[in-house]
Amino acid sequence: MKIAVLSDVHANLHALQAVLAEVGAGGFDELWCLGDVVGYGPRPNECAALLHERATVCLAGNHDLVVLGKIPMTAFADDAAAAAVWTQRALDDDARTFLEGLEPAATVPGAELFHGSPRDPVWDYVLSDDAARQSFAATSQPLVLVGHSHVALELSSDGAQIHGGKADAGMQLDLGGVRRLLNPGSVGQPRDGDPRASWLEIVKAEIDNERARATFRRTVYPVELTQAELRGQGLPEILAERLAHGV
Ligand code: ZN
Repeated sequence: MKIAVLSDVHANLHALQAVLAEVGAGGFDELWCLGDVVGYGPRPNECAALLHERATVCLAGNHDLVVLGKIPMTAFADDAAAAAVWTQRALDDDARTFLEGLEPAATVPGAELFHGSPRDPVWDYVLSDDAARQSFAATSQPLVLVGHSHVALELSSDGAQIHGGKADAGMQLDLGGVRRLLNPGSVGQPRDGDPRASWLEIVKAEIDNERARATFRRTVYPVELTQAELRGQGLPEILAERLAHGV
């Protein structure tokens, strides 16, 4: 079975289309999305429609929940808030209905999925050994998948120590025999200095982590098209600028 794990699409349609083209060509069986379908980016309705159609599991992220009004707008700083207000106005009924049905956590055979972390599936970032240790302690499946930080990450636990760190493009991991916490990075707004869309490929025998393998993937997309759309909608310039640098 081949699974594509995407997160933090953030209404960046051109990044999502480029990743979905590779997913389609690669014969993937499932697509899991770890949340933040919308927010920041200029094409929320199209991204929601594509994920509604293609994702076998899709979580809600903090941006989705703010746009829906389930979390107060005051949770956000200026640029995120400006984009969320714009997205609230732009969102169509189909996209709103799709997002309304999403939760920030899910469990599938062999894996637990969270937008943030097991400690707080909406807001918490797994960026420290301590957060990782508590995340492993709060879960029981061999594989834990999180998004939210927009940084591709691979951590493992041998029960006492946390190993690993940032995951480079092309990195491959054997998932057998050890508990792993993986972050696929962000499709629509990477923040690790690499502007390419970031996602994760998992290949495994049916519900058998002993013979599973993960590969961190990066996909080139036409950043300038998303930048032009952001500027065309009058969204904050910093949101366009950062996409060129992956920050
Ligand atoms: Zn995000």
